[in-house]
Amino acid sequence: DDISDEILSSYDIDILSMPDEKPRTNKEMKVKVGIKVSSEDHGTPLERFRPGYLWVSDLTKQNWCEQQLYYSFTMSGIIEVNPVVQKVMTEGSNLHLARELAVHDTVPVKVTSNEDIWAIKVINLLNAVQGFLNGVTLAREIPIFGAPFQQDVFFVGLIDELRFDPESYNIDLLELKTKAFKSPPSKAQKSQHRLQVLLYKKLFDDLVKGNLSKTTVAKHLRLDLKRDFGEAVSLELTKHLVEFKNLDGLLDHLFQRMQCLTCVSQLHIEYVHQESKQTLYHHTEDYDDDDLSNIFEDYLKFWRGQRPVAGVDIEEAWKCQKCDFADICEWRSKKSEEYSSKNKDKMK
Ligand code: SF4
Repeated sequence: DDISDEILSSYDIDILSMPDEKPRTNKEMKVKVGIKVSSEDHGTPLERFRPGYLWVSDLTKQNWCEQQLYYSFTMSGIIEVNPVVQKVMTEGSNLHLARELAVHDTVPVKVTSNEDIWAIKVINLLNAVQGFLNGVTLAREIPIFGAPFQQDVFFVGLIDELRFDPESYNIDLLELKTKAFKSPPSKAQKSQHRLQVLLYKKLFDDLVKGNLSKTTVAKHLRLDLKRDFGEAVSLELTKHLVEFKNLDGLLDHLFQRMQCLTCVSQLHIEYVHQESKQTLYHHTEDYDDDDLSNIFEDYLKFWRGQRPVAGVDIEEAWKCQKCDFADICEWRSKKSEEYSSKNKDKMK
């Protein structure tokens, strides 16, 4: 029970609510189950840990501590999941699921290829868009993807909630955060959550503005746009009154529908208490494209191997106290040596 609410922020609760995400290759599956990867392995972090695309949650974890994110890929075999953390993550995931099921049902669809998997994501996004165009005002757990800021890196995420106003066509985006404790979100938590909603808006708006091409999607996700969907996916598309044989036509249709909407106008973050289910805090965030672009550029330097991995600054050393990797963290020991030698110099 000594796990604080802030420390829980370094774990990704939302990722548990992702729809069935199938690892695309055996190699990727090894990383997902936490096989220790030798630090001598070649390639950039992007090539080694996230070939193809990054999750939005990768950047929010990086915002917490980049060194911790790195260890989660290379050293995850050494940690045991704390049962308290596990419980909080499960509670958070259940709350997300309950909210999702309050606005729509889910049906299992058999997928036979990567193209089928991505067709399901496109259908789920398309359902939200088509719903808005037909007067529906609320959608939850909406897949989103894109390659922001012409950086040639692809991102995938899952927006918790979009609210559509049929009068003004305004779209509000809401991110739900569940809290085991009633304390207000800290500066570090707010920074993570702000980055998350800014990036979601960027991805959504890029689709509205027609800034994503089919070739970009196909290149990063290694998809064959002309490959026919499996039987179950084709049947599902028919139920949604769209008949496309492959992603080539389906993506054209999605892009065309997205361009009938407007960009996200307001960003909200709602903090809900896990036990009582009550809303504890509610924040709105202003979008700042330059700020997001600068953060993005700096973070991508790590993923591209253009700068060494960095841990937390001295002001955020409290994060290290309950970090799973504190005992082996090179950044922490380097910083603590620097700190001691500075103090010795002062004493002289
Ligand atoms: Fe990051 Fe501190 Fe953990 Fe090292 S010990 S990985 S610097 S939080």
